[in-house]
Amino acid sequence: MNATGPEFGFGVYFHWPYCTRICPYCDFNVYAAKDRDKEPLVAAMIADLEAQRRRLPDHPKVDSVFFGGGTPSLLSPAQIALILDKVNDTFGIAIGAEITLEANPNDVLRSNPKSWAEAGINRLSLGIQSLKDEALKFLGRDHNSTQAYRAIDAAQTVFDNHSLDLIYARPGQQLKDWEAELTETLALGAPHLSLYELTIEARTAFGHRAARGELVPMDDDEQADLYELTQAVCEAAGLPAYEVSNHARAPEFESRHNHIYWASGDWLGIGPGAHGRLTIEDNRLATESPRRPADYELNQKPAETPLSRTDTAREFVPMALRPVNGLDLNRFECVAGTSPAPSILEDLVSNDLAVIADKRLVLTMAGRLMADHIAALLLPHE
Ligand code: SF4
Repeated sequence: MNATGPEFGFGVYFHWPYCTRICPYCDFNVYAAKDRDKEPLVAAMIADLEAQRRRLPDHPKVDSVFFGGGTPSLLSPAQIALILDKVNDTFGIAIGAEITLEANPNDVLRSNPKSWAEAGINRLSLGIQSLKDEALKFLGRDHNSTQAYRAIDAAQTVFDNHSLDLIYARPGQQLKDWEAELTETLALGAPHLSLYELTIEARTAFGHRAARGELVPMDDDEQADLYELTQAVCEAAGLPAYEVSNHARAPEFESRHNHIYWASGDWLGIGPGAHGRLTIEDNRLATESPRRPADYELNQKPAETPLSRTDTAREFVPMALRPVNGLDLNRFECVAGTSPAPSILEDLVSNDLAVIADKRLVLTMAGRLMADHIAALLLPHE
């Protein structure tokens, strides 16, 4: 068995770095730009894709294409179609591949979602973030709840396979308020929800406000209560978690692209600041493209860092623990070159943090709340 590589899934991630405005919690590689000429960056991404194909002549067709950002729904349907044509001309797109576009509600209302489907998109991930005007204002979003509802409605007429993204554990958020908002969201009938707790990163506007004492993040216990409530409400509504923060009505609606990350498959990172992981002749490489769009337009060549076996295990273990079907212990051995200490596994099981079934280590709800800590316990030490 190979440790990592395209046999565990192969995808392309396109990073479109522009947004109409920058949200105060966002720490992605993003730039505010509304009416910028998009052509040079689209051309650079296509040149990057072609160069990657020359570098990877033996990689198979892609199982997934993901347009993320930033706000890739600012691309025109013709630009999306052109990029997808180039993916097909270079690597090829496997039959039944998942092709996702992240979209902001206002772009759904401005554009015609049907034209995205005609361009080749078959899954829409809608950045709703909240159904409450007050929360949307706090999060600095450029849409309100009426626009969110209208966008969901418009998207649902075209895309059966769609996801709504929401942010919870906002400062001061009460259990009953989140329960009501989540119940309202579930009633909209989306087959997939991504529910992320608000994290406050130091270099964001929220991070600066927190440093000045103007914003107090929710404490860990309150966050844990909200997380447990989220699991119970979603499960009762028929959307159980299939991963720490992701819920689906049925396996066919799970994000196949994210499964590539969780399984340590291979993916190309195309676009400014995009990260990729590639396995070439059994060597694992981390790639990172030039971050600034102007630099990337001039030269797309990514920086490449070889990953040692320990580096690879350090990435593999926390990611593999996230899906609810758990971490394959045979594969752990293959990636890390050693097995987790039996005493650690016994402790996890006896403390009700994990169960072991079919040689897979599956976290319980209590375990999911401390997944990163558990990953660190399992990892081999150099
Ligand atoms: S729209 Fe998304 S990517 Fe853009 S700034 Fe807001 S959170 Fe970040």
